Amino acid sequence: MSGHNSSELHVLCSSGQLFLQPLWDSLRTREALTHSPFFPVIFSIATYVGFCLPFVVLDLLCPWVPALRRYKIHPDFLPSARQVLPCLGQTLYQHLVFVFPATLLLWARGPVFLPLEAPELLQLAFHVVFCLLLFDTEFFLWHVLHHKVPWLYRTFHKMHHQNSSSFALATQYMSIWELFSLVFFDIMNVTLLECHPLTILVFHVVNIWLSVEDHSGYDFPWSTHRLVPFGWYGGVAHHDLHHSQFNCNFAPYFTHWDKILGTLRSAHAK
Ligand SMILES: [Zn+2]
Ligand SMILES: [Zn+2]
Repeated sequence: MSGHNSSELHVLCSSGQLFLQPLWDSLRTREALTHSPFFPVIFSIATYVGFCLPFVVLDLLCPWVPALRRYKIHPDFLPSARQVLPCLGQTLYQHLVFVFPATLLLWARGPVFLPLEAPELLQLAFHVVFCLLLFDTEFFLWHVLHHKVPWLYRTFHKMHHQNSSSFALATQYMSIWELFSLVFFDIMNVTLLECHPLTILVFHVVNIWLSVEDHSGYDFPWSTHRLVPFGWYGGVAHHDLHHSQFNCNFAPYFTHWDKILGTLRSAHAK
């Protein structure tokens, strides 16, 4: 810890920072990892596949554990290897030919500045929620536009709709332009809000989890939309309706934009 020993740092920190400081300190000391040009791409793939894996296992268990089907949006649908493998291949291909070169360019500009202090817990939570709301708004506009203009739909968004009953690994089955747009919104928001690197990391993890959950095909009692009150959050059944009906539920996470524009359709989830 250059310039500060840990007791000095604790005096400087507020209670919210103290809560996250040990985690931040342990991440900062792994500079070889966090400053590696491979870190962003490996982190992104590992988080995504890691979140998909439990749902892949559930799909494999479904034929032997029929009780699992009561949590499925489409109880009789199980993705085949011919559906799953191209999705996984597309994710790996896009990370290799697009995400890796892009992060390599950022890495070549110089090492990312890692501040000494961790962010305030409340500030981290506020930034993550605000980034999600901004991302939701930006993707809502992008999504409506790419459904209303037939050329945009055919050229850039149709690929994501190839699987009408979705499954976890279909989350990132999309064109390069769609992936680029998502990454652009993602980076623009954390830059605009000048988020702490730890907040950026947490936001990426939350964003990847929510997108995988949206496509998982499973509606559990602990699914995010059941934890957020007043129907503010759409969730898996809500996004599944978009995949089957095309003309509703354009926002990826929250429901306010679809409510305002009259494109909200209730999923009546089990
Ligand atoms: Zn769509
Ligand atoms: Zn989708």
